[in-house]
Amino acid sequence: MRRALATVDLESVRSNVASLIGRLSPGVGLMAVVKANGYGHGAVPVARASLAAGAESLGVATAAEARELREAGISSPLIVLGPLTGADLETALAADAEVLVWSLPFLREIVRLRHDQGGRARVHVKLDTGMRRLGLYPRDLPRFLDELATEPELQLAGLMTHFATADEDDEDFFDYQLRAFDEAVQPALLRAADRIRFHCANSAATIRFPQSHFDLVRCGIAIYGLSPFQTDPWTDGLKPALRLTSYVADVKRLTEGDTVGYGRAWTAPGNHYVAAVPIGYGDGVSRGLSNRGQVLIGGRPLPIAGRVSMDLITVDLGPARPAVNPGDEVVLIGGQGEEFITAEEVAAVLGTINYEITCNLSSRVERVYQGT
Ligand SMILES: *Cc1c(COP(=O)(O)O)cnc(C)c1O
Repeated sequence: MRRALATVDLESVRSNVASLIGRLSPGVGLMAVVKANGYGHGAVPVARASLAAGAESLGVATAAEARELREAGISSPLIVLGPLTGADLETALAADAEVLVWSLPFLREIVRLRHDQGGRARVHVKLDTGMRRLGLYPRDLPRFLDELATEPELQLAGLMTHFATADEDDEDFFDYQLRAFDEAVQPALLRAADRIRFHCANSAATIRFPQSHFDLVRCGIAIYGLSPFQTDPWTDGLKPALRLTSYVADVKRLTEGDTVGYGRAWTAPGNHYVAAVPIGYGDGVSRGLSNRGQVLIGGRPLPIAGRVSMDLITVDLGPARPAVNPGDEVVLIGGQGEEFITAEEVAAVLGTINYEITCNLSSRVERVYQGT
């Protein structure tokens, strides 16, 4: 028994990647997004599984994430999707990563570094079509491309944008962004540098809007078998890859009025049994689940009783002598017997999204891989 264990099924990752690729027209590629340690699943194993299943490239958010993949011996195309400061840009280019560009000073910084290091940097121009975080306004694209074309150290590899609402019911803003992207890239499309890739779809857009696929889709959440729509992942043909487990460290019989844990937040309503389970917010199990979350023991859903503490939770086993023993497996995310707790359900209890649930799993959670 391990105290805090994430078991990641790489066969599910491969199946999800293959299922997503199956929705693309021939010639359209899939970038597997493995930023934030593969959404908490482990970047390197997920990257390898995704490439084995047909992903053509990998996406990360930071230079250090790019370096980690290279140090693991992964040689596929790799894009850093986030902004980079000077030292990080050097790291990213040294890792032979492609980078996003949208400002002239940054363009010049790349040129200067490439000049020193030799070789050409592959860059993707990021367009801001409505997210209003990073990127160039479409009206500034023609001039920017002209500037870029004068730099022999730079190779234009792609034009991209990112959607704000691809996962939301209302499609109006999505349509607006897609149209803005489409119009902005038309002249570039016509110039038909056939080595330039156009890309904008995240997982939600990949699943919902085939008209947004262009040359390449960038899928993160869906490759992990998590729903971009916060619904049941299986309805979208996805298989959750991660199972989060702990074990019963102790079972205790309480008498009426006994209180459990910090702040005495749960009071036994009569003679009750509780299990102590050695996993807590130090592992990334949110304290917001105090008196609200559920776990599975012996294939039964049971409530978390009292506060989630840093290293422990307590579970209400009910008034009858339970068929639960020290050493029994406890599931916080995933299946056991006939029951399943999805990351989407945990997120709903906490008022957040599945992305945050798996990203929050800390380095103290041991990752073990199946289906390698
Ligand atoms: C994280 C990210 C993605 C992946 O989004 P998902 O919703 O997880 O599929 C795609 N594109 C960019 C630019 C990103 O930062």
